[in-house]
Amino acid sequence: GKMVVGSVLATASRRFRDDEALFCAGTGRRFTFGETNRRCNRLAHALARLGLRKPDVVAFLCNNRAEIAETYFALAKAGLIGIPLNYRLAPSEIIKLMTAMGAQALIFADRFSAAAAQAHEALPGVRHWVAIGEAALPTWALRYEDLLAGGEETEPEVEVEEADAFYFNLTSGTTGVPKSYLLTHYNNATIWPNFGPFEPSRRDVVLTAFPAFGRIGFGWISTAAMHGARNVLMDFTPDEALRVVEAERVTMVNLVPTMATMMLAEPSVRSRNLSSVRTVIFAGAPLPASLRERVATEVCPRVSEYYGMQETGVLTASTPEDRVRRPDSVGLPVCFAEVRIERPDGTSAAPGELGEILGRSPSSVTGYFDNPAKTAETFRGGWVHTGDLGLVDEEGYLFIQGRAKDMVITGGQNVHAAEVEEAILRLDGIVECAVFGLPDEFWGERVAAVVVATTAVVSAAAVEAACREHLAGFKVPRTIVLQDEPLPRTPTGKVQKFLLVERHTVRPSR
Ligand code: ATP
Ligand code: MG
Repeated sequence: GKMVVGSVLATASRRFRDDEALFCAGTGRRFTFGETNRRCNRLAHALARLGLRKPDVVAFLCNNRAEIAETYFALAKAGLIGIPLNYRLAPSEIIKLMTAMGAQALIFADRFSAAAAQAHEALPGVRHWVAIGEAALPTWALRYEDLLAGGEETEPEVEVEEADAFYFNLTSGTTGVPKSYLLTHYNNATIWPNFGPFEPSRRDVVLTAFPAFGRIGFGWISTAAMHGARNVLMDFTPDEALRVVEAERVTMVNLVPTMATMMLAEPSVRSRNLSSVRTVIFAGAPLPASLRERVATEVCPRVSEYYGMQETGVLTASTPEDRVRRPDSVGLPVCFAEVRIERPDGTSAAPGELGEILGRSPSSVTGYFDNPAKTAETFRGGWVHTGDLGLVDEEGYLFIQGRAKDMVITGGQNVHAAEVEEAILRLDGIVECAVFGLPDEFWGERVAAVVVATTAVVSAAAVEAACREHLAGFKVPRTIVLQDEPLPRTPTGKVQKFLLVERHTVRPSR
C-alpha cells in the first residue's frame, strides 16, 4: 500500500487489536488499538457527513488527551488537512491562522471553550464547531462523542496519496516569529524508521508529556502505534509525570531537558518507583552534560538523544551505547537522513571542523508555507540550512555547538553564548540566565546577559566578577540585567532570546 498515516493505525488495529493503545492520564480513559481505530473511523465518517471532503481544512485545539491522537488519525483517513493549534496562542492568533488556511471546522477540548467562543464570534463562515469533553455545550457546538456515535466503524474509502497534505503547523518560535509549513503524509510516514534507534516494541509504554500539537508529539504517537507500544498521554507537571511513570510502568520517557530539570527538582522523585523506565529520550533543545549525568545516575542509566527540527523531522539519534562512547554527541544520522557541515564559503568542512549543520531527509518539508524569502534562505541546494552550528567527527558523529544566532560577534571576535552562560551558572543562587548580543555602534554587537537569581545577594558586579574569573575579557558581558521574572520560553522550554534582544535594545531617541 501507500505510506500514509491512516494505514499505520488500521494495521495496528489488526495486529494488536486487544492491546491497550492509549491511556489518557487526565481523564483516566483507556482504549485498545481496535477501539481507537474504530473511533477514528467513526470520526472520519462523521466529518464526511458534515460535508467535509478532501482536501478541506480542520483546525483542532486540544491538550494531551486521547482525542488529539484520534483527531490526527481521523483527519488523515478522511484526507482532511489538520491544523494542530498551539493552545498557548492568543484567540486572535488562532483566528488569523484559521482564516489564512480557510479552516472549515474547529474541534476543541472544553477547557479551551473561551478561545473557541471568540473564534466562533469572529468567524461566522466556519460552519462546524465540535467540543471534546463533558462540560456544558455551547449552543453553536456539537459534542465530539455524539458526532462519533453517528459515524460508521468501517475504514473510510478515501484515496489518500503520499504527497497529500497531512497537516499545517508552525515552528516553535525560539528565534523569532514562527515559520509555517505543510507536512505531507509521506513526510510524516518516513519519520517512523527514524525512531528505530530507540527500538520501541510491543512491550513498551511510551510517555508523551510534551504538547502533542508539535511534530515530536504525533511523531511518537504514530511510532508507538506502528510498533504496538502503549501510549500514555498527559499534560505535563513534574509531580504528575512522576506519578504516571510509576503507576503506568512507563518504559520510554520522552522529555525536553527543562522537563527533566523540573522532575529532578521535585521532592517526590526520591520516593517514586521508577524502575520500569528503560530509556530516557531527549530532544528539542541542548541537553546539558550535568543534567544528562544526573538522569543517568538518579533515574535510568540508558539515556538517548536525538536532533532535528520541525522542518526536517529527526536527523540524528544517539543510542544509550553511543552515549557511553561519545557522551556529548547527538549521534549518527538516522535511516535515510544525511548531515553535512558547511563552511561560510559553501564548501564542506573537514571532520572536526566547526560549521553550519545542513540536513536532508524524506521527512523534511521542501519549503515554508507562504514565505518565499525564508524558504530561499533555509532550503538551498537540496539541503536544509538548520542555522545550528556543529561538527562531525571521523566516524560521522554529530556534535552540536549551539545556534548560529547564539554566537555574538563583538569587535570581530566570536563569543559562544553557551560558554558565557556556563560561567554565570557557576555562581551560587543563579536560577537561569541567557546571554545574547545587543547592537552596539562601536563593537557591532555587545555581549549582554539577563540573570534570574534566587537571592538578592547576587549582584551585577558578582556576575561580572565570575565571568572575569573564567573568561577572556572580550567575552565578559557589558550589559548585565538582573530580573525576578522567569525568562521567556517556548512551550517546549526553549529561551526566546529574540524577545530579550527586543526588550533591551536601546532605540535612539529623537
Ligand atoms: P524557530 O525555528 O521558530 O525559531 P525552533 O528552531 O526552536 O524555533 P524547532 O524546529 O521546534 O523550532 O526546534 C529545532 C531546533 O531545536 C534545532 O534547530 C536546534 O537548535 C534545537 N535542537 C533540537 N534538538 C536538539 C538537540 N538534541 N540538541 C541541541 N539542540 C537541539
Ligand atoms: Mg528553527
